[in-house]
Amino acid sequence: MRLTVLGCAGSFPGPDSAASGYLVQADDADGRTWTVLLDLGNGALSALQRFGDPTRLDAIGLSHLHADHVADMVVLNVLRRYHPSGPCDPVTVHGPTGTAERLAQMAGKDPATSTDGQFDVVEWQEGSPVTVGPLVLVPVAVEHPVPAFGIRVSGPSDADPSRTVTLAYTGDTDACAGLDTLAAGVDLLLSEAAYLEGRDDALRGVHLTGRRAGEAAARGSAGQLVLTHIPAWNDPALTLAEAAAVYTGPIALAHPGAVHVL
Ligand SMILES: [Zn+2]
Ligand SMILES: [Zn+2]
Repeated sequence: MRLTVLGCAGSFPGPDSAASGYLVQADDADGRTWTVLLDLGNGALSALQRFGDPTRLDAIGLSHLHADHVADMVVLNVLRRYHPSGPCDPVTVHGPTGTAERLAQMAGKDPATSTDGQFDVVEWQEGSPVTVGPLVLVPVAVEHPVPAFGIRVSGPSDADPSRTVTLAYTGDTDACAGLDTLAAGVDLLLSEAAYLEGRDDALRGVHLTGRRAGEAAARGSAGQLVLTHIPAWNDPALTLAEAAAVYTGPIALAHPGAVHVL
């Protein structure tokens, strides 16, 4: 299983990165590569063309409906629908309640009559697994001002396909029971860390700090921690230091194009 970072800028695209977008890929026993896209925020479609293939997606999972996680879905639809080679086959989009309506609204369409055929929307059911080839996605509700999910993804290890590995993507969340469910025993925790200790202490129920992400990784005995969703106005070195103070495993800062092989 492989994780490719498309965009990792928190809350808005930064000068060096698009907003949130990630590819998770795994090969099945026949050698076919299966690809799941997790989130597609502002600018992430550009990175998806550079580091992946927007016409070859087996499923899309949306953590929540904030613009920095879904804004480029409207232009992904354009790319797939009007491709000179012909329209792509529909792809299933898993998301929270209201996903179909939001996608239609972003495209300027009436949600009641919009049937452009590119996205088949299926709403997440808390804890219910979704199977995509050799990958299994489990949505876990987390704490954010709007309905939001983190997603655990399990699949065959690249190094040893007989072994199942798991990564968890937090989406946007503060510390909560769902975060601990996500982090428990994972090989890799891809955690947001939008806030800073001290500066943002009064803001709870929205985002993690580097420290809170590190604490979740430590509690869950995560094999490694990748910090993401850091806004351009933060110093990532501070976020890294916060996490390293409480989590002793390997820590990386997400950057566009990074590939994490599990
Ligand atoms: Zn966000
Ligand atoms: Zn959000």
